[in-house]
Amino acid sequence: MSEVSTDLLRSTLKEVFGYHHFRGNQENIINNIINGKDTFVIMPTGAGKSLCYQLPAVVLEGTTIVISPLIALMKNQVDQLRALGLSAYFLNSSLSKSEITKVKKETLAGNTKLLYVAPESLTKEENIEFLKKINISLVAIDEAHCISEWGHDFRPEYRRIKTIIGDLGEMPVVALTATATPKVQIDIQRNLQMDNATVFKSSFNRHNLYYEVRPKQNIKKQIIQFLKPRKGQSGIIYCLSRKKVEEIAQFLAVNGFRAAPYHAGLESSVRMANQDGFLSEDIDIIVATIAFGMGIDKPDVRFVIHYDTPKSIEGYYQETGRAGRDGLDGHCLMFYSYNDILKLEKFNKDKSVTERENGKVLLEEVSAYAESAVCRRKQLLHYFGESWDEAECQSTAGCDACNNPPESFEGQEHMVTALKAVSETGERFGIGHLVDVIRGSANQYVLSYGHDKTSIYGKGKEESKELWSSILRQALIFEFIEKDIDNIGVLKLTGKGKDFLKSPHDIKITKPHDYSQLTRETEEE
Ligand code: ADP
Repeated sequence: MSEVSTDLLRSTLKEVFGYHHFRGNQENIINNIINGKDTFVIMPTGAGKSLCYQLPAVVLEGTTIVISPLIALMKNQVDQLRALGLSAYFLNSSLSKSEITKVKKETLAGNTKLLYVAPESLTKEENIEFLKKINISLVAIDEAHCISEWGHDFRPEYRRIKTIIGDLGEMPVVALTATATPKVQIDIQRNLQMDNATVFKSSFNRHNLYYEVRPKQNIKKQIIQFLKPRKGQSGIIYCLSRKKVEEIAQFLAVNGFRAAPYHAGLESSVRMANQDGFLSEDIDIIVATIAFGMGIDKPDVRFVIHYDTPKSIEGYYQETGRAGRDGLDGHCLMFYSYNDILKLEKFNKDKSVTERENGKVLLEEVSAYAESAVCRRKQLLHYFGESWDEAECQSTAGCDACNNPPESFEGQEHMVTALKAVSETGERFGIGHLVDVIRGSANQYVLSYGHDKTSIYGKGKEESKELWSSILRQALIFEFIEKDIDNIGVLKLTGKGKDFLKSPHDIKITKPHDYSQLTRETEEE
């Protein structure tokens, strides 16, 4: 393997990239790659993942292949690298035939340090033949969560990457992502056969962001009240549909705010003008579909509002992550209604069974997050596999749940019932079924599995479905149960959960918010 000294890495950092220090784990990650090891990097957006493969690309002999699904951003990245004096190219469907020939020629001549390739270009036979002929120093797979069906951004072509790079020869592989739940992480590693990779995972806590969820009621009035004291501040409002984007942008403009719409249906000149206006501070508020934000690096976004309930916690984390990049406060406000969840579920109805089931679980997680009264930060970080003591939320920007502590009760007996439901049904079921058993439902599934014979059947019939769902979700956060990696939605006991059943102890359970009074009519005025 190549011998690269610490001095060379540091001088390259300074002389080529113009930075004085490595950030976080960058130096360890780079060393690991340079030592020829497969590497898996999980870091929040903005933490500096690109440098982790760009710097090795500079010091290693040959060409680094970067697989990235974001065609729109490839050009930006390549332009930035060229501005640093590096020879970088991209191969994707936006290039003409003669441009492709030129890129290949330069690369074959050994003149390319970084070659960005879109996954759909990577899978083309003529490109595979071309790649076989060049000296590849490293393969970087950016946005690696796209490999996983369990993620929010699955791209089928990503599944073929491993087979293709396997044919290209022996070289280290680095997979990078900003969003990976433990389940997605395992899926990525399995798919890329990177079981022996060194994993570098940074904390996902964004200490300067305040998280808040409000019921989706009188929403326009609430938005105006929220925005009034924030006039002149930069913010993003995400809506689900293009129509809603237009409507809200106009509504804000009429109310004297400098707001503009952004969605894929706008003329590209209008879209660019609005984006530029936002970056250059002529526009304070961008009202957008989730098409907006990828690669937007505006440091002083002070708030992100989700007008409509988001599709997944990962997406939500990513979108709210655009607030407070400068380290100063950011307010993340989500409007929630169960009607939105049902609407989003309908969008999935034409998809394959797996995608539909997966989409449903992602949505259930959003609804659990919104309806739960547990510290938001604790829930978000738990989602990414991190433990977090809510007592510490005070030392951050905080959240609505910690600011207004929810009602709680001593719930040892409830927890025992919930965990027994998991174990006595053979650790093969999800929340919905377990709640049915606990509440003594006589539906055909419960009866056909004989779950009416379990010791806890009907034990919780006095309490609501919402409360029992919430207790099971809190059991997940307490790490008494965990999600089965292979069977979506299925819950299993952990060692900690088994211990609790053996010797139960006092435990505080928070009551969920009651959104049942929310009807379609009250959502909007
Ligand atoms: P990510 O891919 O993790 O979202 P980027 O690679 O785009 O993040 O980096 C985010 C920002 O941080 C960029 O503006 C980049 O130039 C900057 N950056 C990366 N590493 C360093 C460093 N060591 N020192 C200073 N700035 C850095």
